[in-house]
Amino acid sequence: EKEAALAAIPPDSDSPTIFDKIINKEIPSTVVYEDDKVLAFRDINPQAPVHILIIPKVRDGLTGISKAEERHFDILGRLLYTAKLVAKQEGLAEGYRVVINDGPQGCQSVYHIHVHVIGGRQLNWPPG
Ligand code: ADP
Repeated sequence: EKEAALAAIPPDSDSPTIFDKIINKEIPSTVVYEDDKVLAFRDINPQAPVHILIIPKVRDGLTGISKAEERHFDILGRLLYTAKLVAKQEGLAEGYRVVINDGPQGCQSVYHIHVHVIGGRQLNWPPG
């Protein structure tokens, strides 16, 4: 399956990803929140009426959550806190989902850690 095949190639931690180009504005994105540490923008292939990605501006080895170390405590907290800020800004008062996909079986396709905020419709559980 296409998604699984794409997701099955974890690069090394120094390889740039498309999110580096989004951070330095080489490719356009619809930014909904930005500060000195994190960037939040609309997913190009939304899975719900609201689908936002939140990323650290500096990856610092965090290709995915499975690479987290103690030095990442602050940025990990900021990513989750930003999820809450963005959800509120988007008016998701009825609820939403916060997701981090990791690795091939988690269907991760971009190896720069990112938090998905998904909402605006009734979500199902369990996910696929
Ligand atoms: P998956 O592709 O299975 O959702 P990830 O959790 O790695 O895996 O999510 C990467 C996300 O990045 C996808 O939802 C994809 O639509 C999104 N994406 C890829 N390229 C862009 C882009 N240029 N702008 C915005 N979102 C993007």
